[in-house]
Amino acid sequence: MLYLLPAFIFGTALGSFINMAVYRLNKNQGFGGRSYCDYCKKTLSTTALIPFFSYFLLKGKSNCCNKKLSKECVFVEFMSGIFIFVISLYFLGYLNSFGVVPFYSFNKSILIGYFLFYSSIFVILATIFIYDLKFMVVPMFFVYWGYALVAAFKIVEYFLYRTYLVNSLSSTTLGKYILQTDYLNNRLNFFIQDNMWSLLVASGIALFFIFLVFITKGKGMGVGDIFVAPLLSFLLPYPNAVLYVFLSFIIGGIFGSFLLLFTKAGRKTAVPFVPFLIIGYLFALIFGDAIISLLV
Ligand SMILES: [Zn+2]
Repeated sequence: MLYLLPAFIFGTALGSFINMAVYRLNKNQGFGGRSYCDYCKKTLSTTALIPFFSYFLLKGKSNCCNKKLSKECVFVEFMSGIFIFVISLYFLGYLNSFGVVPFYSFNKSILIGYFLFYSSIFVILATIFIYDLKFMVVPMFFVYWGYALVAAFKIVEYFLYRTYLVNSLSSTTLGKYILQTDYLNNRLNFFIQDNMWSLLVASGIALFFIFLVFITKGKGMGVGDIFVAPLLSFLLPYPNAVLYVFLSFIIGGIFGSFLLLFTKAGRKTAVPFVPFLIIGYLFALIFGDAIISLLV
């Protein structure tokens, strides 16, 4: 329980980074340098830099020029705090981890490594989500970072897994005997085959989206969706990695019908698809196994 408040505060700081990233990507600015006020361009005071809480400390107004602060930004910081809070519940064992926390997370530093990996994935997905929602464009810069992070992490995970196997086997006499057989190599080959299978599934999903962009002549799906859809599939085990695409279409379809029925939106209204992919991904992560056991 000791970790939960810091987790929330860490989340609001990530949320503040997400707001900054969305803003600066849109203006084509770099991520370096101190933040300044949107209105009067003065560098922000230390109080104004505190994520989430500064909104209440400053009573919703900037302390340089007394302008209203964006409610949207505070909301993003709050939601980000909540997300990281929930993610840390998984890592602390209060919630079913859905395979997100590996069984071989035998020590604290590995667990923290996994937590930081998923926090970074959260930042990348949240930035893509908000950016696509606001500007109807997928920020490819963050998509590339997503792929780089997943690739780097898979390599680290391979060595973690290997270390785990060697350590746990060499601690017993029987284990030492097993180490002399092909067992270790077989396990590692399974690990590689698993990831090759993920790669194949991701390629299939990419082809499916290329096909969709082709038949809708780019009006239904954007090129950004071709890249985001396979990225998410790497973050799920096999049947769930396909299921999530179906779920995102169902959720998108339901949302689209609501728009048609209850708002002025017409058939031609453009709706960004990445948010549905990410919502579908979250559904598949949490309810995927339950849905699959119902279907099979
Ligand atoms: Zn100002």
